[in-house]
Amino acid sequence: MPVRHLRFDVLTIFPAMIAGPTQESIVKRAVEAGLLTVRVHNIRDFASDKHHTTDDTPYGGGAGMVMKPEPVFLAAEHALAEAKSAGECGDDSAIVLLTPQGRLFTQDVAAELAERRHIVLICGRYEGVDERVREHLATDEISIGDYVLTGGELPALVVLDAVARLVPGVLDAESLAEESISSGLLEYPQYTRPASFRGWTVPDVLLSGNHAAIARWRRQQSLLRTLRRRPDLLARAELTPEDRKFLDSLRSEPG
Ligand code: SAM
Repeated sequence: MPVRHLRFDVLTIFPAMIAGPTQESIVKRAVEAGLLTVRVHNIRDFASDKHHTTDDTPYGGGAGMVMKPEPVFLAAEHALAEAKSAGECGDDSAIVLLTPQGRLFTQDVAAELAERRHIVLICGRYEGVDERVREHLATDEISIGDYVLTGGELPALVVLDAVARLVPGVLDAESLAEESISSGLLEYPQYTRPASFRGWTVPDVLLSGNHAAIARWRRQQSLLRTLRRRPDLLARAELTPEDRKFLDSLRSEPG
């Protein structure tokens, strides 16, 4: 099977914020294994004046500064050209503007983006970016949640991390399948050695070596957690008749 490859280009005025987290751990190993490419571009390098200005006051007045369109467009065009000459994109690069006004980032959105070959992430700052970036450059707008951060760098890293780990080969398929949310349910509780820590012991079933009993316990714990913490997920989860019976028994428990 041909190896899938995904390239990210991150456009930011704070490149060091992206460089550190993408040069550690799983993302670093995936880059070394040739599964991912991560390039960071400093938007300031594409500003035309001698002070490398990337922001200006808003037309119409008001608080704060707005990121100018020219350096953002030039940085994106540079990233697209570089990806093309490296053979790392087709004609369908996703150009994602990180914004609290975007569609909400979820595991489904991460899975959708993981199908791409090339993703450009635009990090805003100040009061945001000139509207023409949204209208004429971005192909997608993503929010990582209903709160406002000072910049798009942390959201870009969140998107990059969640998408990168779904690229085939970055993680082993088994750990992905059982994870919270991906599986449709929250994951069961996990334990490791020691079997007794400060008198708190690991459930006997996990030490039993009985694989069928362990699988049943884990499934039931997943169902129990999801019912208690995220009942909204159960409505969409794929449930067996046995799962439903177990959930009914929980629901009929007093208090
Ligand atoms: N004034 C903007 C508004 O009301 O939509 C918010 C600007 S915010 C202070 C600066 C930048 O941080 C944004 O341009 C965006 O790139 C990023 N940002 C902040 N919160 C975000 C979120 N929840 N999701 C994605 N990006 C976010």
